[in-house]
Amino acid sequence: MRFEVRDRDVAGRIGRFDTGGPVVTTPELMPVINPHEPTVDPKDIERIGFEAVITNAYIVWKDEDLRERAVDEGIHSVVGFDGFVMTDSGSFQLAEYGDVEVDNRTIVEFQAEIGSDVGTILDIPTPPDAPREVAERDVKTTVERAKEAVECEERPPLALTVQGSTYPDLREKCAAELGELPAAVHPIGGVVPLLEDYRFADVVDVVMAAKKALPPEKPVHLFGCGHPLAIPLAVAMGCDLFDSASYALYAKTGRYLSVLGTLRLEEMRWFPCRCPVCSRYDPQDLREMPEEERVELLALHNLNELRRVIDTVRCAISGGELWELVEATCRSHPAAWAGLVRLSSRYGDELARWSPSVKRSLKVYDEVSKGRPELHIYRDRMRGRFGGVEGRRIVKAGRRPYDVEWLESWELAFVDEWLGLVPGELTRTFPCHSLVEPSGFERRRDDGEDRRSGGRRGDEGRRR
Ligand SMILES: [Zn+2]
Repeated sequence: MRFEVRDRDVAGRIGRFDTGGPVVTTPELMPVINPHEPTVDPKDIERIGFEAVITNAYIVWKDEDLRERAVDEGIHSVVGFDGFVMTDSGSFQLAEYGDVEVDNRTIVEFQAEIGSDVGTILDIPTPPDAPREVAERDVKTTVERAKEAVECEERPPLALTVQGSTYPDLREKCAAELGELPAAVHPIGGVVPLLEDYRFADVVDVVMAAKKALPPEKPVHLFGCGHPLAIPLAVAMGCDLFDSASYALYAKTGRYLSVLGTLRLEEMRWFPCRCPVCSRYDPQDLREMPEEERVELLALHNLNELRRVIDTVRCAISGGELWELVEATCRSHPAAWAGLVRLSSRYGDELARWSPSVKRSLKVYDEVSKGRPELHIYRDRMRGRFGGVEGRRIVKAGRRPYDVEWLESWELAFVDEWLGLVPGELTRTFPCHSLVEPSGFERRRDDGEDRRSGGRRGDEGRRR
């Protein structure tokens, strides 16, 4: 098992996940394939660009025909997907129906037998806000099952799932104990009810608690999260894998994923997307189609939209603009914004452990931007390395870049809205010099000449 990090931004990373079979580039979203009745042809999922899917080994195990086929031909052949196939264990059914007919060892060994690229233990998902004793008991059982799975003679590369309900200390404890074991990936489980209720701030607490204790060299899967609003935020916290059944579930109820959120086909006049489905049809065409065809086409569009989200996140990581993307995405719903406010106000220093410290530029908008990790790193360094600005003349900062002569810079310190105190000699270095802030774009009445470096003013001059 190898997880090689190629690029990073905030706590997000672009990685190469290799468990010995097909290799997956992360962040990646794994569409859920129902082995009984796939909503779309798995070959289409591959064509859209997904490198991995997830299916349920428990459903396969329970169905005698499917089970036999899976053992004979392997799980890849059963789901009709040549790429990476992760399997779930029945924990979802345990959470939904309270019981499953299989035990942990049997389902772990079965997943090895059918050739899963990653197989999951039968962990116990505890609902949010469960009594603490229940959450503690479930964590204990989950860790015992992880240890049992590791001891199995035949075992697939293992997904050892972190539980602990909405108790951050239990999440952390569970993560620390599972982190000692030879896992391929660590899912964070039990978050679906939080996502369904749009409790993004609680999702942030749960994920950050787990991430604190998980080994940084392991990929993290946010189990059951396929929400376009949540994905950029989760990637920024260090989640690498996602899965989604929503593309199909939404399609069945006429819902269309978009940058504006979830739209209803019955109310739509235009498609704000240029995927092969939306380029070819308009909403009325789809409404007039037989149901089966309509559901398949809507599901294909939804997959294309999820692909766009994942690829946009990758671009943002490699361009060093993940925080900016998260701020823009979370602005589209107050609940997501509440999640980002929680992350920014409570965990900026934690994110600073992972984030690159120097970038080309940083865009800042409001209080939430002040929590971004690069600014934490700066403030920490200021405290540690420069020991404050004692004895200097403190000056209120004007427009950027500050008007300061080199010789006097050593006597001055600036009060900067975003950074706090900045010693004069650092005003032309990152991040002070590289902040792009709202007040930098106003027209200055008192400014005869352009003191800004770069061509921004020059361009404006030409337009007038
Ligand atoms: Zn589309």
